Amino acid sequence: MDDNSDLRDMIRTIPDHPKPGILFRDISTLMLDGGAFSATIDRLADALEGDPPDLIAGIEARGFVFASALAYRLGCGVLMLRKRGKLPGSTISIEYALEYGTDMLEMHDDACGPGANLVLVDDLIATGGTALAAVELLRQRGARVNQALFVIDLPDLGGAERLREKDVAPHALIA
Ligand code: 5GP
Repeated sequence: MDDNSDLRDMIRTIPDHPKPGILFRDISTLMLDGGAFSATIDRLADALEGDPPDLIAGIEARGFVFASALAYRLGCGVLMLRKRGKLPGSTISIEYALEYGTDMLEMHDDACGPGANLVLVDDLIATGGTALAAVELLRQRGARVNQALFVIDLPDLGGAERLREKDVAPHALIA
């Protein structure tokens, strides 16, 4: 199905989460359905252009769910981009702005070598602040990040466009 409306129907919108006025796209319902989940992974894999990457970089926490299944399907490894203070080894980190305050992403500083071909994965892109910080962090290690996969894009918030400006092609199943 080209428009992925079967997957769209598996996602519910929860008003006022995590704050009043926010409409939260809840993909846990899609993840609970084996057929919808495997179709999501297959279609994300099919959206990729070019050779399979060396690594899939998943953003904590929902990005990990899709990143690991995709990596298994593509036969590559998983690089974890974690929230502050979770990784045990030596890390590099990047702070990025949220609507109110800041957040941080970290990775092990030896997780990928210069020139490694990485694809970024998360469940959803909104303003793009999280994905852009992830790309910047990975590029600090010399990684090549030219594509990013999302189940959902909220195009009105401009994140996909911001990624394109940084030479990253965003692919989303549902917009
Ligand atoms: P951005 O940084 O693009 O503004 O926000 C995207 C990040 O916030 C992603 O890591 C995503 O998991 C999370 N996020 C923001 N809004 C939603 C939402 O409505 N649903 C889900 N599932 N995640 C969201």
